[in-house]
Amino acid sequence: MAIKLYNTKVRKRVEFSPIDENNVQMYVCGPTVYDRAHLGNARPVIVFDTLFRLLRYTYGADHVTYVRNFTDVDDKINATALARQQAGAAGTLEDLIAERSEETIGWYLEDMAALGALEPTAMPRATQYIAQMIAMIEDLIAKGHAYVAEGHALFRVRSFTEYGALSGRSVDDMIAGARVEVAPYKEDPMDFVLWKPSSDDQPGWDSPWGHGRPGWHIECSAMALDLLGDAFDIHGGGNDLTFPHHENEVAQSTCAGHGFANVWMHNEMLQVEGKKMSKSLGNFFTVRDLLEQGVAGEVIRLVFLMTHYRKPMDWTDAKRAEAQKMLTDWFDILRKHGYSPKTVAQLKASGDWAADIELMGVLGNDLNTPGALARMHVLAKARTTFGLVPLAHALETLGLVSDWAVLDVSASPRDEIPDWVTVVIEQLIARRGAARASKDWGEADRLRDLLSAAGVQVSDVAGTASWSPGQDFDPSVLEELK
Ligand code: AMP
Ligand code: ZN
Repeated sequence: MAIKLYNTKVRKRVEFSPIDENNVQMYVCGPTVYDRAHLGNARPVIVFDTLFRLLRYTYGADHVTYVRNFTDVDDKINATALARQQAGAAGTLEDLIAERSEETIGWYLEDMAALGALEPTAMPRATQYIAQMIAMIEDLIAKGHAYVAEGHALFRVRSFTEYGALSGRSVDDMIAGARVEVAPYKEDPMDFVLWKPSSDDQPGWDSPWGHGRPGWHIECSAMALDLLGDAFDIHGGGNDLTFPHHENEVAQSTCAGHGFANVWMHNEMLQVEGKKMSKSLGNFFTVRDLLEQGVAGEVIRLVFLMTHYRKPMDWTDAKRAEAQKMLTDWFDILRKHGYSPKTVAQLKASGDWAADIELMGVLGNDLNTPGALARMHVLAKARTTFGLVPLAHALETLGLVSDWAVLDVSASPRDEIPDWVTVVIEQLIARRGAARASKDWGEADRLRDLLSAAGVQVSDVAGTASWSPGQDFDPSVLEELK
């Protein structure tokens, strides 16, 4: 099957042809691990997970390598660790930094798994690749593309004539745009940091240029080289990273003599009222916030798939409701036609589990997820023509089913729930509301845990809580409160 991808480098859609069909390789810039992922951070994860799934379908699950890093060297992580130390937390600053990264990585993996994202093949952490970064910087210095000044190693931007080609900017425009940091030790204001000195309250490693830490850009160049080799197929990330991060990655890797990435892919931003959702603007909410409000991970994922990855998008409650209804309808159709986890397993075992070729073709056209969803509506309607296997297959391929147990009818329909259960749940919700109002967070959390142990999904919309039985609804745990 032919796949076409929009390559930022050439600004058009091109037919994808991997360097080695037996090992298609992709690198995606991962998060800086200093806090919970906000909903915007989920966009590249879902986009590139969908691409990962498409590549696995096309080339075989064992023939795709996907690397997504964790940036665990960052001033924001240091700041959190330092604040914790000043607040009396035990341990050295290094311990507290490691603890903070570890905690954040755990949250991240949990939240992204809830969105149906497969784990990448490798998830390197920057702190594990310091030696490779130092080696690459030494190589750049030896080749005349970098220099040392006042404990810093800097990349000599004017030594790379193609600088700006990826993002489509000229060096002079960039200077005029004043997007560069002027510093007395720089030969040229455009030059960027490969290595910088660390003070005692910052993490640091010994290097030929003194005790310090790497700049952000060199991390990805060094990790991609180590894990994927001299050249690889696809490099992805949000379009906020095209300049300067990706431009600098290209400069470093190319000047060190490597082929680097053939295809560059960038997802557009998740916006709030026309502005990028970001921590620094304060206009964000986390993936965890939504999950805790009872919005299923599959529903969140479907909202993202409803917009093409190269278009800006907003999260709205109307879209959430639409996605919820789409999923409910599709699963209802499957259930009504006798689909269960067992029948799905049988279909797979008997070799009758097959994709709709047209849908995969649409998806292969630069990851046209809205087109693929439109095709699913057709498949669901014209089921006498197609049967339901293509619909079920598409749900799985797009990451919209984490477990076919969703087809089990164990979740009691609302009107079959005994009255005492409704009474107990409503009492618990009222008590949780009161605990929150009086800022008794401990009690509020305890009640929430109790409700979630019973598989009750609570959503708070405009200050009013409503509930529904989830897939794992089990009121027997509420028996003693009867
Ligand atoms: P950060 O931790 O800010 O470096 O971001 C991690 C990843 O999330 C990068 O690929 C960013 O491009 C992406 N990202 C950050 N904010 C948004 C947003 N509002 N919409 C889509 N992607 C985003
Ligand atoms: Zn990167």
